[in-house]
Amino acid sequence: MTYQNYSLKQLQAIDAAHHLHPFTDHKDLRAAGSRMITHADGPYIYDSEGNEILDGMAGLWCVNVGYGRNELAEAAYRQMKELPFYNSFFRCTTPTPVLLAKKIAELAPDNINQVFYGSSGSEANDTALRLVRHFWALQGKPQKNRIISRNMAYHGSTIAGASLGGMGGMHEQLGGAVPNVVHVMMPYAYELALPGENDHDFGLRAAKAVEDAILEAGADNVAAFIGEPVMGAGGVKIPPASYWPEVQRICRKYDVLLMLDEVITGYGRTGEWFAAQTFDLEPDTITTAKALTSGYQPLSALLVGDRIAATLVEKGGEFYHGYTYSGHPVACAVGLENIEIIQREGLVERVKNDTGPYFAKALQEHLGDHDIVGEVRAIGLMGAIEIVKDKATKERFEPSGSAAVVVRDHAIANGMMLRATGDTMIMSPPLIWTRDTIDLACERIRKALDLAKADLFRSK
Ligand code: PMP
Repeated sequence: MTYQNYSLKQLQAIDAAHHLHPFTDHKDLRAAGSRMITHADGPYIYDSEGNEILDGMAGLWCVNVGYGRNELAEAAYRQMKELPFYNSFFRCTTPTPVLLAKKIAELAPDNINQVFYGSSGSEANDTALRLVRHFWALQGKPQKNRIISRNMAYHGSTIAGASLGGMGGMHEQLGGAVPNVVHVMMPYAYELALPGENDHDFGLRAAKAVEDAILEAGADNVAAFIGEPVMGAGGVKIPPASYWPEVQRICRKYDVLLMLDEVITGYGRTGEWFAAQTFDLEPDTITTAKALTSGYQPLSALLVGDRIAATLVEKGGEFYHGYTYSGHPVACAVGLENIEIIQREGLVERVKNDTGPYFAKALQEHLGDHDIVGEVRAIGLMGAIEIVKDKATKERFEPSGSAAVVVRDHAIANGMMLRATGDTMIMSPPLIWTRDTIDLACERIRKALDLAKADLFRSK
């Protein structure tokens, strides 16, 4: 690696000249210059100026075992030397995807025993969409192909991912979404509950929106409902306890498949291996990626339930779908080692019994009373802080989304990486965080909130 031969200014100039970043306003980026992260260790990332920043986002919801894991580097190195690549097409495969699939099946809900690989969450959702439609076609019901999703859902950035997702800005830029995807309300009580409506009733009403969409289309035309168990990029929106059991009941009643997108929640984040287990669900597909390798290699796995998998075998016929890197041997070697680390260190149990509950309590106690915080919420090691101008009325700062950016910039300047989405600060730290790390994070966030409050009221 020779980047050390370049100054930050030189790297930024090359970046501006040649590199188009994802989800970026390129005009703004040119003006501001990019932040260059150069190395990382444990829970910390370091930028080119040597600043140490506590990574409250685990990279991008993925580095669950933290940075600097030699075992993962060595697993990749060994596999690259032995067999860097061979495909899984044409009745071939290689050992590591086989063994990883077995491992995932052991951890997954009981009705799930098969895995289809890709390299990203978006690809895995493409696979999921094609697979459920193929399933109904094999069942002799090709017209049962409508998918119900939710506003503000994030299911990736390919055409299928963006179509499944419920982000208005993304839809506007699609120039034609995948047909037959409809979106219903999200289960977000803080903004959508009616005056006097309690969480329980709100959760049932949000689930009823799914039933209404099924009835409107006719159950014979609806293939599946897709949802993130906890909406991530849309703002860590945790549904009321009444929501998921009711959605599961409705899906069963109308024979609509349940597709869970666990790209964020998979592999421990909510204190179980999968949020399906946290919410006691029996999905037909689970989309996973990110923490499957803790982000050390690009890898996704679509977990496929027995009903769909058995139909593929019974009915036969080729499923015309797959990627060159489906079951990449190096990525799968890293995935295997990563799961072993999570198991060896008991990280899932730790989130469930210790750091998860502590995280929720700490956010509440240290940040919940702050003047510009409307609500804090957490599940496992996933959290959100709502930024408001007025706690009582829930009034937001204008323009929408601006205040969270001010908080984020102060947080980063104070050694704390947080993400701003809309008016919400979101967090998804590595599962290696301890109680001490959580305390340190709360201290830094509190300081960022104080500084942001001063800025935000000064500029009014
Ligand atoms: N689904 C969810 C729930 C996600 O959070 C993401 C990424 N943040 C994706 C799908 C897409 O994954 P990728 O960026 O790997 O394509």
